[in-house]
Amino acid sequence: MRILTGIQSSGRPHLGNILGAIKPAVDLSLQPGNDSFLFIADLHSLTSLRDGTTRREYVRAIAATWLAFGLDTNRSTFWRQSRVQEHTELYWYLNCFTPKPMLENATSFKDKSEKGLEANAGLFTYPVLQAADILLYDAEVIPVGKDQRQHIEMTRDIAGTLNRAVGEAILVLPEPRIDERLMVIPGIDGQKMSKSYNNYIDIFLPENELWKVVKKIKSDSTPLEEPKNPDTDITFQLFSLLGSDEQIQEQRSLYEAGGYGYGQAKKALYELIIQKYATERERFNYYMHENPDALETELQAGEEKARAVARQTIRRVREKLGFS
Ligand code: ATP
Ligand code: MG
Repeated sequence: MRILTGIQSSGRPHLGNILGAIKPAVDLSLQPGNDSFLFIADLHSLTSLRDGTTRREYVRAIAATWLAFGLDTNRSTFWRQSRVQEHTELYWYLNCFTPKPMLENATSFKDKSEKGLEANAGLFTYPVLQAADILLYDAEVIPVGKDQRQHIEMTRDIAGTLNRAVGEAILVLPEPRIDERLMVIPGIDGQKMSKSYNNYIDIFLPENELWKVVKKIKSDSTPLEEPKNPDTDITFQLFSLLGSDEQIQEQRSLYEAGGYGYGQAKKALYELIIQKYATERERFNYYMHENPDALETELQAGEEKARAVARQTIRRVREKLGFS
């Protein structure tokens, strides 16, 4: 089956991106019989980030994260969205098949504009560009976090509308693949962890900086000596996503026994991150700092292959819409 997923270069990649999308996509991409398309959504990041130098750095960090988590460019097609112009061409065609009320109902648009992100037309039509990303490659399965469920639904609606209008199923309707356990990873403030909300945990930070972030995770004011409820605690929720069953059970008992403070719980989470991701942290540093040329080579590896597939889809659409 053909899988596809992308990450915006709107900030440093975080635990939510890794658990919600990168890790499941890499795992699927390594299964025999799967054909995977994994990309960096740098055009999408322009909706919230204007500075080019920063964007370039974020693109590098996201690419290094994919590679650190095992993406193999010999097996998967890996590229930057902006390098394949067919994304923006299909985006225009799809815009003309997208009812405005559908976009007005998009929860991510509402969330972001409520949080003070500028509500530009790019942010408003973001789901249409995303639909183009998916439909260009005839993708069947999209591994994503729960926040993307509605966008995949819109992609199906838009594709269905266009297929009906031209009288032929020229676009493939994709299915989301959402791991219920990893639906929405909370950020350090308890809201959805997001690059653009400044509430995220970047697991690749140097140790002292990582500790500073973990220390900031919101907790309640239960006194040190009293038992604590692990199920309502953000630190515990994050610990549970990373630890083994045994580690989680042990942590739960410490919370419930009392005399165990949130500072200690945060230290345990911090140490777990460092231990669990030791290899990935090393590989990330290799691509980011030790061998940037290797990173650039990997980034260019899939461009031609992506373009070749995208062109075929565009040809079908142009033909049916009378642009050929
Ligand atoms: P932005 O704030 O710029 O939208 P983001 O952190 O939401 O950034 P995206 O690039 O929009 O990240 O999303 C990339 C992928 O990561 C998507 O599949 C999305 O579902 C997943 N993802 C993002 N945040 C989380 C989260 N908190 N929990 C689980 N998955 C997430
Ligand atoms: Mg997002």
